[in-house]
Amino acid sequence: MTASKETLGFQTEVKQLLQLMIHSLYSNKEIFLRELISNASDACDRLRFEALNNAGLYGDDADLKIRVAFDKAARTLTVSDNGIGLSREEAVTHLGTIAKSGTQEFFKALTGDQAKDAHLIGQFGVGFYSSFIVADKVTVVSRRAGLAADQAVCWESAGEGDFSVSMAEKAGRGTEVTLHLRAGEDEFLDGWRLKSIIRRYSDHITLPIRMMGEKWDEEKKAQVSSGEEETVNQASALWARGKNEVSEAEYQEFYKHVAHDFEDPLAWTHTRVEGKQEYTQLLYIPARAPFDLWDRNARHGVKLYVKRVFIMDDAEKLMPLYLRFVRGVVDSSDLPLNVSREILQESKDIEAIRNGCARKVLALLESLADSEDAALREKYTKFWGEFGKVLKEGVGEDFAHKEKIAGLLRFASTHADTAEETVSLKDYIGRMKEGQEKIYYVTAESFKAARNSPHLEIFRKKDIEVLLLSDRVDEWVVGHMSEFDGKPLQSVAKGGLDLGKLEDATEKEAAEKAADEYRELLEKVKKSLGERVKEVRVTHRLTDSPSCLVTEDFDVSGNLARILKAAGQKAPEAKPILEINPHHPAVQHLKYEEARFDDWAALLFEQAELAEGGQLEDPAGFVKRVNGLMLALSGGR
Ligand code: ADP
Repeated sequence: MTASKETLGFQTEVKQLLQLMIHSLYSNKEIFLRELISNASDACDRLRFEALNNAGLYGDDADLKIRVAFDKAARTLTVSDNGIGLSREEAVTHLGTIAKSGTQEFFKALTGDQAKDAHLIGQFGVGFYSSFIVADKVTVVSRRAGLAADQAVCWESAGEGDFSVSMAEKAGRGTEVTLHLRAGEDEFLDGWRLKSIIRRYSDHITLPIRMMGEKWDEEKKAQVSSGEEETVNQASALWARGKNEVSEAEYQEFYKHVAHDFEDPLAWTHTRVEGKQEYTQLLYIPARAPFDLWDRNARHGVKLYVKRVFIMDDAEKLMPLYLRFVRGVVDSSDLPLNVSREILQESKDIEAIRNGCARKVLALLESLADSEDAALREKYTKFWGEFGKVLKEGVGEDFAHKEKIAGLLRFASTHADTAEETVSLKDYIGRMKEGQEKIYYVTAESFKAARNSPHLEIFRKKDIEVLLLSDRVDEWVVGHMSEFDGKPLQSVAKGGLDLGKLEDATEKEAAEKAADEYRELLEKVKKSLGERVKEVRVTHRLTDSPSCLVTEDFDVSGNLARILKAAGQKAPEAKPILEINPHHPAVQHLKYEEARFDDWAALLFEQAELAEGGQLEDPAGFVKRVNGLMLALSGGR
C-alpha cells in the first residue's frame, strides 16, 4: 500500500553526515539557504531539459521560479520551486542516501577535529541535509512533473535516525521544503536578513527568486507584508554577462553553485568565443582535489547549456579526461536544443568546443605558472600539488596540446632538497651544463628511491641535474614524450649512456681500457648468471656502487615492469643488463675468486636489484649467500 505512511531509516552515512554537519558547520549556518536554492534551481533546469522532448510537462505553468517565504507565527521557512519534483521513490532514495562516489574515502578522511572536518564536509558537499543545521524538523512536499495532484509525496524528518514518507496532495508541480526552525534561529524569520543572504550567495541563480515585499507599518511599529511579490536576485545567467559586469565575489559564489563546493575556486576563465562555433565558457579550477579525483569514471563538472537552457550535467565530452577537475559552464549558441548524449559523442562541434575549452584552461594555467606576480605563481604551485598528477595524463592523451602540457609539468630534481621543490623542463634546459644535449631523468617508486638511485652516481660527480620521477603516471609521461624543445629525454637507467661531450677523452680511454681488461671476467659472470641477464658489461654510470641494472632504450624500464606486476599485469619480457664497476674493490676481487665465484656474481646482481627497489626472486638464497660470505670472511672463527 503506497498511500500509507512509511518510516524508513537513513543510510548509516547520512546519519553520520547529519551529526557532523550540525556541529561543524554551525558557524556558517546560513549556507543552508544557498544549498536549498541551488537544488531548486537544478530541479528547474532538469524540468526544462526533460520538457524539450515533452512540452506537456509544463502544464499551464511554464514560468519557472523559486520562492522563499517565512511564517513568523509557525516559525517556519519555506523554499519552493516549480521544477521537476520528486516521486515517492525518488524522495526515498535522494533524501535518504548519499549517492556520491568518494563517500567511503570521505568518512575515512574525517579526523574528529571540528575545524578540519568542517573543511572536509564543505569539500564533500552538504546539500539538502544542511537544512538540519537550523531546523529540528524538515517537511518536503513534492509532486513530480507529469504526476497527478494526489500523487505527491510528503517526506518528513527530524534529522536523527529516520524519516517518513506518505502520499500527499499538491496543487502544482515541484518541491516545497519547509524548515521548522530550532529555538534561537529566529534570525531566519526576517525578510531583510533572508534577502541579504540570497543576494550574497544566490544572486547568480538564473531563475527569479521571489519573496513577498515588506513595508513599514507605523501603527504596529513593524515590517508587514506589502502584499506584492518581488524578485530578490538579478536572475540573469551570470556567464552571459560581460566580464566587467561580474564582481569577483559573484564569480566565487557562482562557482560554489556549479561545483557544489564550499571553498573559493583557485582561478577561473570567462570568455565568449566567436567564429565558426559560438559559445561562452566560464571554467573554474578548484582550490582542492575532490575525493573522486582518481575515479576516471566519476561525474564531470562542466554543465552544458544551449542558448541559456540547461542541457546536461557532467558532460564528459566537454572536457578531456586529464582536465576532469575543471568545473563550470559552457553555453553554446549553435548546438540544437534537443542534443542528446549520443549526439554529443559524435559531434564535431563538441570536439571543437572541447578543444577550445582545453586550450583556455591550459592558457589559464600558463598565465599562473609564468606570471610576474609571485602570488599567482604560488597559486600554480598549489594547483600542481593538487592536480599535477592528473594533468600529467594529458601528455599522452591530448596530442594537440602536448607541448603546452609539457611546459606546465613540474618535476623533483637532484638540484633540490625536497620532493616539493620542483623544476619545469624549461628551467632545466636553462641550466643544462655546457655540452649537455639531453634531459636526464630517473624513474623510481618513491622520491627517496629515485634520489638514492645508484644510476645517479656519475651525474652527481659531474654535477649534471637529473629529474627525479616517482609518480606512477611518470612512466606514462616519459613513454609519450621523447623530447622537449628539441632536447631528447633520456633515462639514466637505459641504454649505453653516452654522455657525449660531457665525458672527456681520458675518461673514454680509461673506460675502453677497463672494458678490455675485464672482458674475460664479464663473460664469466654472464655465464654464471645465465638467463637472468641479457648482457654483462663495464659501467660508465657508477662511481661508488659495485653494480647496477639497466635496460635497453626501447625496453620496459625496471620501474614500469614492477608497477605492471603490482597491478597484476604482465610486463613484456625484458631482461636487464648488469653493469659492473671496475673501480670497486668487490669487482676487483672477483678477478681472483674461484670457490665462491657464483655467489659473488649472484650478489652483484641481487644487490643491484635491491638498490633500485626491486624484489628478489629468491630472498632466502640471497640471505644464505650473504651469510656464507660473512662466515668465510670471519675465517670460520
Ligand atoms: P546534491 O544536490 O549534491 O546531489 P542534495 O543532498 O542536495 O545533494 O540532494 C540530493 C538529491 O535530491 C538531488 O540530487 C536531487 O535529485 C534531489 N533534490 C533535492 N532538492 C530537490 C528539489 N528541490 N527538487 C527536486 N529534487 C531535489
